[in-house]
Amino acid sequence: MKLFINGSWCSSSSGNTIEKLSPVTGKKMYNFPAATKDDVDNAIDAAYNSWEKWYSLGSVSRSKIIYKAKDLIEKNRKQLEDILVKENGKIRPEAVGEVDGVIDQLQYYAEFARKITGDIVEGEKANRKILQYKVPYGVVVAITPWNFPAAMVARKIAPALMTGNSVVLKPSSDTPGSAEFLVKMFLKAGIPKGVLNLVTGKGSEIGDYIIAHKKVSLVSMTGSTFTGQRIMEKASSNMAKLILELGGKAPFMVWEDADLNTALKVFMWAKYSNSGQSCIAAERLYVHERVFDKFMKMIAEASRKLTVGDPEKAKMGPLINKAALANMSKYVDEAKAEGGKVITGGGKPKLSKELKEGYFYEPTIVTGVSQESKLFQEEVFGPVIGAAKVSSFDEMLEKANDSKYGLASYLFTKDFKLANKAAEAVRFGELYINMPGPEASQGYHTGFRLTGQAGEGSKYGIAEYLKLKNVYIEY
Ligand code: NAP
Repeated sequence: MKLFINGSWCSSSSGNTIEKLSPVTGKKMYNFPAATKDDVDNAIDAAYNSWEKWYSLGSVSRSKIIYKAKDLIEKNRKQLEDILVKENGKIRPEAVGEVDGVIDQLQYYAEFARKITGDIVEGEKANRKILQYKVPYGVVVAITPWNFPAAMVARKIAPALMTGNSVVLKPSSDTPGSAEFLVKMFLKAGIPKGVLNLVTGKGSEIGDYIIAHKKVSLVSMTGSTFTGQRIMEKASSNMAKLILELGGKAPFMVWEDADLNTALKVFMWAKYSNSGQSCIAAERLYVHERVFDKFMKMIAEASRKLTVGDPEKAKMGPLINKAALANMSKYVDEAKAEGGKVITGGGKPKLSKELKEGYFYEPTIVTGVSQESKLFQEEVFGPVIGAAKVSSFDEMLEKANDSKYGLASYLFTKDFKLANKAAEAVRFGELYINMPGPEASQGYHTGFRLTGQAGEGSKYGIAEYLKLKNVYIEY
């Protein structure tokens, strides 16, 4: 693997590399470059020197390159699916789904070529006008997580490039391979020199330097709230605009009149897809007391049947790394110490010799812990969930809103009035009623509280990459 700076592939100027381990076997997969501050300077300079020319091409020409990259990804999609299975441990159908998402993002944003508009506003006199232009910021830094390593890259670089910005991409150190593949496709599609750059390396080592760089005007980051807060602090030095898509703790609410089979189906997706490592994953279960025992039985049975192991064969793969695996035991042990009852799972599954060192954990459901417990308050980010009984709709909504995070939420009820009430009351960026996610390209993916600020997707998402400039004119 190499860095991609100013149109060329290169090693780190220090020659240092970082080891990437397989989540499936725990064994080394490859080494990738640990970029230095000099490498970062070169990438940001390249982006800075190229964005005006890129912008001046016009939106239709820019979109042609994005469409071409999309076509190339479609043509070579198996390669990207393989990378996702190997470096992330995604089961094959989920890798296929993620590549579909990448293609959809590129298509969606490229379609904005003829939809970017400004405004003409009346001035104080008839011969005065205010022209409101929407212009690019310049250099956009895109920082991405490992859980959807290709889709998150696409969702940032497509709108940034479409609006005439140039990009320095810093992918997660757990999944740099998907980012490299996407950059290769853009290069093949004809992206001009300097407009898209790839810098790999530990965020904890080069992150502060990238964020505070004086030539950076916008930072679009998806990741943990901890890192988002650090980025916000560092960005104060250059006043870079921030798009921060951070942690989630989605409540999954099942009312007494719910179609439990639908709720079960959606729960299995919302809790266990991507091994529970999604920002919109179900993280807390609130179930009406009259159907609680029945629903627990249904989800425990289905969870027990979920095969865990080789991503090519099983229904659920591994967690991303050793630390993530250790977190699962920590949450379950703490819940047990508080009097929680593990109704299914709670340990490592039985695995073949080749997978023994992989980061696998069983689908796990815990009942009997309080709303104040870590299981109900912290982002678990894995196949473990706590479940609680509720006796009134208001209690359920109150508990759902009682979280420092505010990204997704789910509700199952046939009562239209209650569904409407919840739509008004929930303090989350997304509420899925009687249906699964994920968010659509044409929806605005955003969150309340510590889930961050700004958002992605829809006309509002693309507007985040455009700055409004006013020209006052008298004629
Ligand atoms: P993370 O540890 O915060 O890392 C995210 C990215 O930030 C990585 O590229 C990381 O680089 C980089 N980074 C780390 N320290 C940095 C610093 N000081 N300055 C700049 N960049 C830095 O998050 P993650 O574990 O990859 O992802 C999981 C989290 O993402 C979860 O909390 C999940 O909810 C959230 N997420 C949110 C959304 C959403 O739309 N709201 C979507 C997906 C995921 P290294 O890998 O090199 O450390």
